[in-house]
Amino acid sequence: MPSMNDKDYYSILGVSSDASTDDIRKSFQKLARQYHPDINKEAGAEEKFKEISEAYAVLSDPDKRKRYDAMRSGMPYGGSYRTGGYSSGKGDPFTDMDFEMWGFPFSGTGTGTRRTYYSTSRSYNPRQGSDVSFNLDLDSEAAKKGVSRGVTYQRYVSCTHCSGTGSTSSAHAETCPTCGGTGHMSVDLSSIFGFGVFEVECPECEGSGKVVSDPCPHCGGSGRVLSADEIVVEVPPKSHDGDEIRVTGAGNAGTNGSASGDFVCRVSVKSEHLASYQSSGFQIVGFVLPFVLMSVFSDFRVGLFTILFAAYGVYSIFRGGAPKGAILPHRALMRGASSGLVLALLMFMMYSCLSGFGFR
Ligand SMILES: [Zn+2]
Ligand SMILES: [Zn+2]
Repeated sequence: MPSMNDKDYYSILGVSSDASTDDIRKSFQKLARQYHPDINKEAGAEEKFKEISEAYAVLSDPDKRKRYDAMRSGMPYGGSYRTGGYSSGKGDPFTDMDFEMWGFPFSGTGTGTRRTYYSTSRSYNPRQGSDVSFNLDLDSEAAKKGVSRGVTYQRYVSCTHCSGTGSTSSAHAETCPTCGGTGHMSVDLSSIFGFGVFEVECPECEGSGKVVSDPCPHCGGSGRVLSADEIVVEVPPKSHDGDEIRVTGAGNAGTNGSASGDFVCRVSVKSEHLASYQSSGFQIVGFVLPFVLMSVFSDFRVGLFTILFAAYGVYSIFRGGAPKGAILPHRALMRGASSGLVLALLMFMMYSCLSGFGFR
């Protein structure tokens, strides 16, 4: 989400930056009539309505407007703004972040892509960091013996400048001056529609009601910075395709002093991969299993279609000859079984329900 000083509220409302409060109100009323979700059913109208409401909530209030103007011009207002530091990046910092490998001497054959997010919002919003996931390709020999591999990767680490809090002063967070700590702002629509209040999320604190008191110049207030890191992953002997090695706390640091995520290394052994038709064969068999069990333990009867479906699954598994020694079909089997189970339970519930009413 773009932070407050990235948005041009004046152009959103179609007014000049020296417009009077009266002009701002008139322009908002005109646009609100045009985009109110009850009136305008076009895609995007609701988003537009939120946007103009947010712009109006800030610009119609003299104090908020003054703060907003000061933030945009980079002038300090009411103390501690760092100029130009709050531009926002793209994407979500709390989803998994794959990372990049550099030409490190023992970087293995891992692959990954990197998404970068610069969280520089002033909002005080402590959240746990996400896991960093990494794919490690091994041949069957290495997986059998076990290996230790060094990996270089990029992750968010706690900012040393502010000890991860995001604030350089001792008072880490304060009540958001824009919304007064509620996390939202109200726009009165009664002058336009006769009634109604519309609530928008506060753009300065992003809904948390708190802002970092004195944003750290090093991390911009988030309490974490991107950094290169190294780790040695110990893959134990007798590992197989799909195994996971988790290193607690070696993932992305959380924001404003929150806990870090984990480093998760997934072992990939090519020779253990199933052919896609075999994998779907196992999935089909897995899918049918709950129905077979149901017919054993109740008077539910498996239909001809289910039997044919299961037969097709078995044919898929063996059509290229028997699956080779080291393969691990249980994952495909479980995937199929879990979706089969949901459907079987649903059908069982309907079946018992109908039986209860005498439909058989
Ligand atoms: Zn706020
Ligand atoms: Zn910092």
